[in-house]
Amino acid sequence: MAAPTFWIETLGCPKNAVDSDKVRASLVADGLVAAAAPDSADVVVVNTCAFVEAARQESVETILALADARRKGSKLVVTGCLAEREGTELAAAIPEADAVIGFGGEGALADVLLDAPRRKPTGVRDLLELPRAIPSAPWAYLKVAEGCDRACTFCAIPSFRGTQRSRTPDAIVDEARQLVDGGVAELVLVAQDLAWYGHDVRETGALVPLLRRLDAELAPSGLRRIRLLYLYPSEVRDPLVSTMLELPTVVPYFDLSLQHADRALLARMKRWGSGERFVSMIDGIRDQEPEAVFRSSFIVGFPGETEAEHDALVAFLAEARLDWAGFFPFSREAGTPAATMDGAAPAELVGEWLRECDEVQTPITEGARDALVRAGVELEVLVDGVDDDTGDAVGRTHREAPEIDGVVRLEGAASRPGVVVRAKATDALGVDLVANPIEVVA
Ligand code: SF4
Repeated sequence: MAAPTFWIETLGCPKNAVDSDKVRASLVADGLVAAAAPDSADVVVVNTCAFVEAARQESVETILALADARRKGSKLVVTGCLAEREGTELAAAIPEADAVIGFGGEGALADVLLDAPRRKPTGVRDLLELPRAIPSAPWAYLKVAEGCDRACTFCAIPSFRGTQRSRTPDAIVDEARQLVDGGVAELVLVAQDLAWYGHDVRETGALVPLLRRLDAELAPSGLRRIRLLYLYPSEVRDPLVSTMLELPTVVPYFDLSLQHADRALLARMKRWGSGERFVSMIDGIRDQEPEAVFRSSFIVGFPGETEAEHDALVAFLAEARLDWAGFFPFSREAGTPAATMDGAAPAELVGEWLRECDEVQTPITEGARDALVRAGVELEVLVDGVDDDTGDAVGRTHREAPEIDGVVRLEGAASRPGVVVRAKATDALGVDLVANPIEVVA
């Protein structure tokens, strides 16, 4: 009898993508085989996101679309944050789903679906520790912790992901080694609050020794880049910053979780910082490392946000000149303190504020790309793949995180994924760069 086949559809953030990788590995370990498309799979898994209302809607629409598209008789399973957070309601509202399974069952979906022999105990930590398949791309997310210890008033994540649970350095290095041995050249470390890694096991500053270990043990095996995503701003200081700037594999890419720039509004969010502190942090890092790159995202229309507070955000954007920034309308999340706060700005005004943020940020982002071209900068591009239409290799430098920032197109080069090419920037197309290959570096 042919092995049953599965398809996983992933929504949401990189952390969810790692969970999907691990679910995929657990299904393969239980004897299932990946299908080429959802309509040929025996089991269709939708790994949902529940971060904000728009993400929940997208998850539900995806579940319904796949319910329609799936082959007659195949099973539809909903997992992930929405299944964990609103599982009972979801199961009642979407009878098309054969199973709605929260985090506790994600590591053993085959048990539920196909009555396969129980392979491992289940649970969030077990999912974290499950082995995973080597990705076809030369980069991979690596989750170092789950959950969050903070209490930002707009955020529901701690309520369904729990407080922080850090993986051991040995487990992380082992997984990293498997990925690097399988051809991964860039590791993208993720957690809800990455710089807080280790605090739950009373190891403050544990990220620094972890980075040193990854660099020392895996650079000789082919690891070229370590990228850190989601740094809470109060933790972006020495020794983390000096270590990031010192270690050759750690790229000077600072993904700061800022959310706003007005001190009073940040206090209402129960978050650290102010625009002045952020600018001084960013300037201080730029003084030490002119190649440093900064990304952040911001919430627009938090309850009670005034014109003056919004203006403070806009002024901060103009002064900080972040390389990359995203802006999101405030989303009222049930169960969070901010859900019951008064003073929500009208949707029309929030739309106007979002446009204003984009109008300030877009020329900054695109201007930084143009400046690289004008300066004829030489780039070190890790090739991610090949553009099917043009046949050109497409990759990224340290300036671009995968899946979220722009890319670099290498004109006339058809390099393999994983190759590193030195190239000269010749043109900027919005957020993407075009570059002329000079030589293969590795
Ligand atoms: S630090 Fe991030 S994940 Fe944690 S509560 Fe704040 S916004 Fe949510």
